[in-house]
Amino acid sequence: MKVSLIEYTPNPDYTAAFAARVCYSSDIEKLKLDDKGVKNILRRVIKSGHHSVLEHVNFTFLIEGISRVATHQLVRHRIASYSQQSHRYTRIKRENFVIPENLSGEARKLIENHIDASIELYNKLMEMGVKKEDARFVIPQAVSSNIVVTMNARELLHFFSLRCCVRAQWEIRNCAVEMLRLVKRKAPIIFENAGPTCVRGRCHEENPCDNIREIREYFKNL
Ligand SMILES: Cc1cc2nc3c(=O)[nH]c(=O)nc-3n(C[C@H](O)[C@H](O)[C@H](O)COP(=O)(O)OP(=O)(O)OC[C@H]3O[C@@H](n4cnc5c(N)ncnc54)[C@H](O)[C@@H]3O)c2cc1C
Repeated sequence: MKVSLIEYTPNPDYTAAFAARVCYSSDIEKLKLDDKGVKNILRRVIKSGHHSVLEHVNFTFLIEGISRVATHQLVRHRIASYSQQSHRYTRIKRENFVIPENLSGEARKLIENHIDASIELYNKLMEMGVKKEDARFVIPQAVSSNIVVTMNARELLHFFSLRCCVRAQWEIRNCAVEMLRLVKRKAPIIFENAGPTCVRGRCHEENPCDNIREIREYFKNL
């Protein structure tokens, strides 16, 4: 999987801080914001829950080679826009499959055989005149695609809380962590405490992991 940040609101920290500052200014002409002001007001509004100001900041990602297993989880996040490669219109090839890296030996071989067989059947169905949109029904969820995702900073913070957690499934977690790494470079204040909920305080999982300190350190330095 490859995650790229292809577009974003210029000066994201400033844009969100400006929106917050407007809320508390009676005279727009005199509204001034230096770096320190941006930091202070953003930290204040994020802590207080005044998160609508973060909706003025958008990020657009291209995610390549992600499985349908993971995109199905991704598109459950409703405050976002998606454009995904269509398997009605594009042909699936043998190289377009994701197999969990931790699987090796016999288990990996069995999965590869299953993918080979499904591709063979898919090709055969199309040779018989079956349309791509129908032939794809025999393809496993391991099939990969490319997807463009746009989320605002508020939704991204929520998305990172859920999907950067070690309890999230590995592929969407890898994707979320990579997205966070990219946006942190563009909006260091908005995302300074982003990551699973344990980065900011209490873990909400039923069975918290025992290395919260390491996880906090990891996301702080991402
Ligand atoms: C570890 C994990 C396991 C999961 N397991 C399953 C599973 O087994 N089965 C399953 O079906 N799903 C599962 N999910 C998906 C989960 O239930 C959510 O659908 C998904 O995480 C999207 O997040 P969301 O609903 O919080 O918010 P988003 O869609 O990202 O929306 C952001 C926020 O906007 C608000 N919002 C959005 N839409 C509405 C609305 N219609 N009404 C009120 N408020 C709204 C909510 O506050 C929401 O938190 C799992 C998710 C995780 C992280």
